[in-house]
Amino acid sequence: MAVDQHALEAFKTRFSNAIRNVPDFPKPGIQFKDITTVLKNKEVFAETIDILTQMYRDLGITKVIGIESRGFIFGAALAYNLKAGLVLVRKPKKLPAETIKEEYELEYGTDVLEIHVDAIEKGEKVLIHDDLLATGGTAAATCRLIEKLGGEIVGVSFLTELGFLNGRQKLTAYDVNALVQF
Ligand code: AMP
Repeated sequence: MAVDQHALEAFKTRFSNAIRNVPDFPKPGIQFKDITTVLKNKEVFAETIDILTQMYRDLGITKVIGIESRGFIFGAALAYNLKAGLVLVRKPKKLPAETIKEEYELEYGTDVLEIHVDAIEKGEKVLIHDDLLATGGTAAATCRLIEKLGGEIVGVSFLTELGFLNGRQKLTAYDVNALVQF
């Protein structure tokens, strides 16, 4: 990762300051990390894409996986810059063609993610991106989908990480990076 460390630290402060913390959303006790305030900030938005591009260029990545739905935004920009394809991992019944599915645990119950069966070729180098790492269930299910299709996971990238939820414990097999930790 050829990123100047001083520039990176200064950026991380600007990025953290641009995130809006919304208490008790979507339910009491949850502090929502709202990235719409990053997206509307033209300097921080562009800088975030530039930093992510520096981190993941020259790794031979041919597909970026965006996780529904906020992972699509930076995932798409990153795919464009890396000259890679963009693949969508979505909630059930959103993808129109043949899919495979993975179930994952929620606080109460389970949820499912899907990917098109023809989304990646065997042996492709893949980068997974989502906005936030919490318990890691979403990203771990996405990793299982990619590996079922024969993809090689080069990295798992997040904008933010709620470190106290230990999501990285579900992703120890991978190179995990979050721009900022809370
Ligand atoms: P998890 O599977 O627990 O790691 O949850 C990660 C997913 O849930 C990501 O797609 C996030 O967008 C979303 N998420 C979980 N907690 C938050 C939060 N506090 N603020 C914003 N998004 C969250």
